[in-house]
Amino acid sequence: MALLDVVDLAVSYPVRRGVLAGAVAEASAVDGVSFSVARGETLGLVGESGCGKTTVAKAVLRLIQAARGRVLFDGRPVLDMAGGELRRLRRRMQIVFQDPISSLNPRMTAGGIVGEPLRVHRIARGRALRAAVGDLLRKVGLPAAAADRYPHEFSGGQRQRIGIARAIALSPDLLVCDEPVSSLDISIQAQIINLLEEIQGEMGLSVIFISHDLRVVEHVSERVAVMYLGKFVEVAGRDALYREPLHPYTTALLDAVLEVGRGAPASPGGIRGEIASALAPPAGCRFHPRCPYRMPVCPEAEPPLSEAAPGHRVACFLYP
Ligand code: SF4
Repeated sequence: MALLDVVDLAVSYPVRRGVLAGAVAEASAVDGVSFSVARGETLGLVGESGCGKTTVAKAVLRLIQAARGRVLFDGRPVLDMAGGELRRLRRRMQIVFQDPISSLNPRMTAGGIVGEPLRVHRIARGRALRAAVGDLLRKVGLPAAAADRYPHEFSGGQRQRIGIARAIALSPDLLVCDEPVSSLDISIQAQIINLLEEIQGEMGLSVIFISHDLRVVEHVSERVAVMYLGKFVEVAGRDALYREPLHPYTTALLDAVLEVGRGAPASPGGIRGEIASALAPPAGCRFHPRCPYRMPVCPEAEPPLSEAAPGHRVACFLYP
Protein backbone atom coordinates (compact mmCIF):
# COMPACT_ATOMS: atom_id res chain seq x y z
CA MET A 1 0.00 0.00 0.00
CA ALA A 2 1.24 3.51 -0.86
CA LEU A 3 2.05 5.83 2.02
CA LEU A 4 0.16 8.65 0.34
CA ASP A 5 -2.77 8.39 -2.04
CA VAL A 6 -4.27 11.52 -3.55
CA VAL A 7 -7.42 11.26 -5.64
CA ASP A 8 -9.06 14.07 -7.66
CA LEU A 9 -7.64 16.86 -5.48
CA ALA A 10 -8.86 20.37 -6.27
CA VAL A 11 -8.01 23.71 -4.65
CA SER A 12 -9.47 27.09 -5.51
CA TYR A 13 -8.90 30.60 -4.23
CA PRO A 14 -11.47 33.37 -3.88
CA VAL A 15 -10.57 36.33 -6.09
CA ARG A 16 -11.37 39.87 -4.87
CA ARG A 17 -11.39 43.16 -6.73
CA GLY A 18 -9.89 45.61 -4.21
CA VAL A 19 -9.12 45.19 -0.51
CA LEU A 20 -12.67 45.66 0.79
CA ALA A 21 -14.53 43.72 -1.89
CA GLY A 22 -15.94 40.28 -1.26
CA ALA A 23 -15.02 37.31 -3.41
CA VAL A 24 -16.09 37.92 -7.00
CA ALA A 25 -14.73 34.76 -8.56
CA GLU A 26 -12.92 31.54 -7.86
CA ALA A 27 -9.48 30.83 -9.29
CA SER A 28 -8.80 27.15 -9.71
CA ALA A 29 -5.21 26.55 -8.57
CA VAL A 30 -5.33 22.76 -8.71
CA ASP A 31 -7.95 20.79 -10.59
CA GLY A 32 -8.43 17.04 -10.28
CA VAL A 33 -4.92 15.89 -9.43
CA SER A 34 -4.37 12.21 -8.54
CA PHE A 35 -1.13 10.51 -7.52
CA SER A 36 0.45 8.25 -4.94
CA VAL A 37 3.81 8.11 -3.17
CA ALA A 38 5.23 4.76 -2.04
CA ARG A 39 7.20 4.33 1.18
CA GLY A 40 10.77 5.46 0.68
CA GLU A 41 10.01 6.86 -2.78
CA THR A 42 10.77 10.35 -4.11
CA LEU A 43 8.17 11.86 -6.40
CA GLY A 44 9.37 14.94 -8.25
CA LEU A 45 6.83 17.66 -9.07
CA VAL A 46 7.89 20.00 -11.89
CA GLY A 47 6.36 22.83 -13.86
CA GLU A 48 6.62 26.56 -14.36
CA SER A 49 6.15 28.94 -11.45
CA GLY A 50 2.46 29.33 -10.55
CA CYS A 51 1.35 25.98 -12.03
CA GLY A 52 0.06 24.73 -8.67
CA LYS A 53 2.92 22.53 -7.41
CA THR A 54 3.16 24.12 -3.97
CA THR A 55 -0.63 24.32 -3.69
CA VAL A 56 -0.88 20.54 -4.15
CA ALA A 57 1.62 19.97 -1.34
CA LYS A 58 0.00 22.48 1.01
CA ALA A 59 -3.42 20.91 0.51
CA VAL A 60 -2.01 17.44 1.22
CA LEU A 61 -0.37 18.77 4.42
CA ARG A 62 -3.61 20.54 5.39
CA LEU A 63 -1.88 23.93 5.37
CA ILE A 64 -4.63 25.11 3.02
CA GLN A 65 -8.10 23.74 2.45
CA ALA A 66 -8.94 21.51 -0.49
CA ALA A 67 -12.15 22.21 -2.40
CA ARG A 68 -12.54 18.59 -3.44
CA GLY A 69 -10.81 15.24 -3.43
CA ARG A 70 -9.51 12.50 -1.17
CA VAL A 71 -6.11 12.26 0.52
CA LEU A 72 -5.21 9.00 2.25
CA PHE A 73 -2.08 8.95 4.43
CA ASP A 74 -1.20 5.46 5.60
CA GLY A 75 -4.77 4.50 4.69
CA ARG A 76 -6.42 7.26 6.77
CA PRO A 77 -8.46 10.10 5.25
CA VAL A 78 -6.50 13.30 5.85
CA LEU A 79 -9.06 15.86 4.71
CA ASP A 80 -11.60 14.70 7.33
CA MET A 81 -9.16 14.81 10.28
CA ALA A 82 -9.50 17.25 13.17
CA GLY A 83 -8.18 17.80 16.71
CA GLY A 84 -5.74 15.24 18.12
CA GLU A 85 -5.82 13.04 15.03
CA LEU A 86 -4.75 15.98 12.83
CA ARG A 87 -1.98 16.94 15.31
CA ARG A 88 -0.64 13.38 15.25
CA LEU A 89 -0.74 13.44 11.45
CA ARG A 90 1.27 16.68 11.36
CA ARG A 91 4.11 14.92 13.18
CA ARG A 92 4.34 12.44 10.33
CA MET A 93 4.26 14.94 7.43
CA GLN A 94 6.77 17.79 7.40
CA ILE A 95 7.93 20.44 4.93
CA VAL A 96 11.23 22.12 4.04
CA PHE A 97 10.56 25.55 2.56
CA GLN A 98 12.29 27.32 -0.29
CA ASP A 99 13.50 30.36 1.57
CA PRO A 100 15.32 29.54 4.81
CA ILE A 101 15.51 33.24 5.71
CA SER A 102 11.79 33.86 5.91
CA SER A 103 10.93 30.39 7.24
CA LEU A 104 13.18 30.66 10.32
CA ASN A 105 12.15 32.92 13.20
CA PRO A 106 14.95 35.54 13.43
CA ARG A 107 14.38 35.99 17.17
CA MET A 108 14.91 32.32 18.00
CA THR A 109 18.24 30.54 18.24
CA ALA A 110 18.93 27.59 15.95
CA GLY A 111 18.48 25.34 18.98
CA GLY A 112 15.10 26.90 19.76
CA ILE A 113 13.97 26.48 16.14
CA VAL A 114 15.10 22.86 15.79
CA GLY A 115 13.81 21.93 19.26
CA GLU A 116 10.43 23.64 18.89
CA PRO A 117 8.58 20.63 17.40
CA LEU A 118 9.96 18.42 20.18
CA ARG A 119 8.74 20.90 22.82
CA VAL A 120 5.36 21.52 21.23
CA HIS A 121 4.66 17.79 20.95
CA ARG A 122 6.08 17.23 24.47
CA ILE A 123 8.64 14.72 23.28
CA ALA A 124 11.65 16.18 25.12
CA ARG A 125 12.56 19.02 27.47
CA GLY A 126 15.51 20.25 29.53
CA ARG A 127 18.75 18.35 29.04
CA ALA A 128 17.11 15.66 26.90
CA LEU A 129 15.85 18.38 24.55
CA ARG A 130 19.28 19.99 24.31
CA ALA A 131 20.88 16.60 23.58
CA ALA A 132 18.26 15.82 20.92
CA VAL A 133 18.83 19.22 19.28
CA GLY A 134 22.60 18.61 19.26
CA ASP A 135 22.04 15.24 17.56
CA LEU A 136 19.78 16.81 14.94
CA LEU A 137 22.25 19.61 14.19
CA ARG A 138 25.09 17.11 13.80
CA LYS A 139 22.90 14.99 11.53
CA VAL A 140 22.57 17.95 9.14
CA GLY A 141 26.28 18.73 9.27
CA LEU A 142 26.32 21.54 11.85
CA PRO A 143 28.16 21.52 15.17
CA ALA A 144 26.03 21.15 18.32
CA ALA A 145 27.34 24.59 19.41
CA ALA A 146 25.37 26.11 16.52
CA ALA A 147 22.31 25.76 18.77
CA ASP A 148 23.14 29.06 20.51
CA ARG A 149 23.41 31.16 17.36
CA TYR A 150 20.69 33.08 15.53
CA PRO A 151 19.62 32.56 11.88
CA HIS A 152 21.35 35.75 10.64
CA GLU A 153 24.68 34.35 11.87
CA PHE A 154 24.51 31.47 9.34
CA SER A 155 25.02 31.29 5.58
CA GLY A 156 22.07 30.43 3.28
CA GLY A 157 23.13 26.79 3.04
CA GLN A 158 23.53 26.51 6.82
CA ARG A 159 20.11 28.06 7.35
CA GLN A 160 18.60 25.46 5.03
CA ARG A 161 20.34 22.78 7.11
CA ILE A 162 18.59 24.20 10.17
CA GLY A 163 15.26 24.06 8.31
CA ILE A 164 15.93 20.41 7.45
CA ALA A 165 16.87 19.58 11.05
CA ARG A 166 13.58 21.09 12.23
CA ALA A 167 11.64 19.16 9.57
CA ILE A 168 13.11 15.79 10.59
CA ALA A 169 12.96 16.43 14.36
CA LEU A 170 9.74 14.43 14.74
CA SER A 171 10.96 11.53 12.54
CA PRO A 172 8.29 12.07 9.88
CA ASP A 173 7.32 9.51 7.24
CA LEU A 174 6.74 12.07 4.50
CA LEU A 175 8.90 15.10 3.75
CA VAL A 176 7.78 17.75 1.28
CA CYS A 177 10.75 19.69 -0.09
CA ASP A 178 9.40 22.86 -1.72
CA GLU A 179 12.12 24.28 -3.98
CA PRO A 180 14.64 23.57 -1.18
CA VAL A 181 17.71 24.67 -3.14
CA SER A 182 16.31 27.37 -5.46
CA SER A 183 17.49 30.25 -3.30
CA LEU A 184 21.00 28.84 -2.83
CA ASP A 185 24.20 29.29 -4.82
CA ILE A 186 24.85 26.51 -7.33
CA SER A 187 27.89 25.37 -5.35
CA ILE A 188 25.78 24.88 -2.20
CA GLN A 189 22.82 23.24 -3.97
CA ALA A 190 24.64 19.92 -4.44
CA GLN A 191 25.58 19.78 -0.75
CA ILE A 192 21.96 20.25 0.34
CA ILE A 193 20.68 17.73 -2.21
CA ASN A 194 23.25 15.19 -0.99
CA LEU A 195 22.22 15.85 2.61
CA LEU A 196 18.53 15.30 1.78
CA GLU A 197 19.37 12.06 -0.02
CA GLU A 198 21.47 10.83 2.92
CA ILE A 199 18.71 11.61 5.39
CA GLN A 200 16.08 9.99 3.19
CA GLY A 201 18.17 6.81 2.96
CA GLU A 202 18.80 6.72 6.71
CA MET A 203 15.23 7.44 7.77
CA GLY A 204 13.41 5.65 4.92
CA LEU A 205 11.46 8.83 4.17
CA SER A 206 9.00 9.30 1.36
CA VAL A 207 9.66 12.62 -0.35
CA ILE A 208 7.68 14.97 -2.59
CA PHE A 209 10.34 17.13 -4.23
CA ILE A 210 8.96 20.30 -5.80
CA SER A 211 11.12 22.24 -8.22
CA HIS A 212 11.03 24.18 -11.45
CA ASP A 213 14.56 22.87 -12.10
CA LEU A 214 14.33 19.72 -14.20
CA ARG A 215 17.96 18.80 -13.66
CA VAL A 216 17.59 18.76 -9.88
CA VAL A 217 14.38 16.75 -10.12
CA GLU A 218 16.03 14.24 -12.44
CA HIS A 219 18.81 13.77 -9.93
CA VAL A 220 16.63 13.11 -6.89
CA SER A 221 13.39 11.52 -8.15
CA GLU A 222 12.28 8.00 -8.92
CA ARG A 223 9.05 9.17 -10.52
CA VAL A 224 8.19 12.59 -11.89
CA ALA A 225 4.87 14.43 -12.36
CA VAL A 226 4.74 17.42 -14.72
CA MET A 227 2.15 20.08 -13.91
CA TYR A 228 0.63 22.70 -16.18
CA LEU A 229 -1.99 25.22 -15.04
CA GLY A 230 -3.24 23.18 -12.09
CA LYS A 231 -3.25 19.77 -13.77
CA PHE A 232 -0.90 16.84 -14.12
CA VAL A 233 -0.08 16.48 -17.81
CA GLU A 234 2.45 13.64 -17.56
CA VAL A 235 3.53 11.19 -14.86
CA ALA A 236 6.23 8.57 -15.39
CA GLY A 237 9.31 6.92 -14.00
CA ARG A 238 12.30 9.26 -14.10
CA ASP A 239 14.14 7.49 -16.93
CA ALA A 240 11.05 7.16 -19.14
CA LEU A 241 10.12 10.81 -18.64
CA TYR A 242 13.57 12.20 -19.36
CA ARG A 243 14.45 9.83 -22.22
CA GLU A 244 11.05 9.51 -23.89
CA PRO A 245 8.84 12.44 -22.86
CA LEU A 246 5.41 12.25 -24.47
CA HIS A 247 3.56 15.46 -23.65
CA PRO A 248 4.49 18.44 -25.85
CA TYR A 249 4.87 20.59 -22.71
CA THR A 250 7.32 18.15 -21.11
CA THR A 251 9.27 18.01 -24.37
CA ALA A 252 9.47 21.80 -24.49
CA LEU A 253 10.63 22.00 -20.86
CA LEU A 254 13.37 19.45 -21.53
CA ASP A 255 14.41 21.21 -24.75
CA ALA A 256 14.74 24.42 -22.73
CA VAL A 257 17.10 22.67 -20.30
CA LEU A 258 19.27 21.54 -23.21
CA GLU A 259 19.25 25.05 -24.69
CA VAL A 260 20.32 26.55 -21.36
CA GLY A 261 23.18 24.03 -21.39
CA ARG A 262 24.13 25.48 -24.77
CA GLY A 263 23.99 29.04 -23.41
CA ALA A 264 20.45 30.04 -24.45
CA PRO A 265 18.04 31.88 -22.10
CA ALA A 266 16.14 29.85 -19.49
CA SER A 267 12.60 29.95 -20.90
CA PRO A 268 10.61 26.97 -22.14
CA GLY A 269 12.12 27.01 -25.61
CA GLY A 270 9.69 25.81 -28.27
CA ILE A 271 6.57 26.99 -26.41
CA ARG A 272 4.86 30.00 -27.89
CA GLY A 273 3.05 32.61 -25.78
CA GLU A 274 2.71 33.06 -22.04
CA ILE A 275 1.18 30.68 -19.52
CA ALA A 276 -2.55 31.55 -19.21
CA SER A 277 -4.17 32.86 -16.04
CA ALA A 278 -5.54 30.29 -13.59
CA LEU A 279 -8.56 32.58 -13.30
CA ALA A 280 -9.54 31.85 -16.88
CA PRO A 281 -7.79 28.65 -17.98
CA PRO A 282 -8.20 27.77 -21.66
CA ALA A 283 -11.02 25.37 -22.49
CA GLY A 284 -10.23 21.82 -23.54
CA CYS A 285 -6.54 21.01 -23.20
CA ARG A 286 -5.16 23.89 -21.12
CA PHE A 287 -1.93 23.80 -23.08
CA HIS A 288 -3.59 24.19 -26.49
CA PRO A 289 -2.88 27.94 -27.04
CA ARG A 290 0.84 27.20 -26.80
CA CYS A 291 1.00 23.75 -28.33
CA PRO A 292 2.73 23.28 -31.70
CA TYR A 293 0.79 20.03 -32.29
CA ARG A 294 -2.69 21.45 -31.61
CA MET A 295 -5.54 19.64 -33.38
CA PRO A 296 -9.19 20.69 -33.86
CA VAL A 297 -10.26 18.57 -30.88
CA CYS A 298 -7.78 20.18 -28.46
CA PRO A 299 -9.74 23.38 -27.60
CA GLU A 300 -12.99 21.39 -27.52
CA ALA A 301 -12.33 18.57 -25.07
CA GLU A 302 -10.09 17.91 -22.11
CA PRO A 303 -7.64 15.04 -22.65
CA PRO A 304 -7.73 12.51 -19.77
CA LEU A 305 -4.52 11.49 -18.02
CA SER A 306 -4.33 7.96 -19.36
CA GLU A 307 -1.71 5.24 -19.53
CA ALA A 308 0.28 5.42 -22.78
CA ALA A 309 2.77 2.78 -21.61
CA PRO A 310 3.04 0.78 -18.38
CA GLY A 311 3.51 3.30 -15.55
CA HIS A 312 3.61 6.23 -18.02
CA ARG A 313 0.51 8.45 -18.01
CA VAL A 314 -0.04 11.41 -20.28
CA ALA A 315 -2.91 13.86 -20.89
CA CYS A 316 -2.75 14.49 -24.65
CA PHE A 317 -4.86 13.52 -27.65
CA LEU A 318 -1.72 12.55 -29.55
CA TYR A 319 -1.74 9.34 -27.48
CA PRO A 320 -5.08 7.54 -27.82
FE1 SF4 B 1 -1.18 19.70 -27.72
FE2 SF4 B 1 -3.62 18.77 -28.19
FE3 SF4 B 1 -1.88 17.30 -26.85
FE4 SF4 B 1 -2.96 19.45 -25.75
S1 SF4 B 1 -4.04 17.59 -26.35
S2 SF4 B 1 -0.83 18.86 -25.67
S3 SF4 B 1 -3.07 20.83 -27.49
S4 SF4 B 1 -1.73 17.93 -28.99
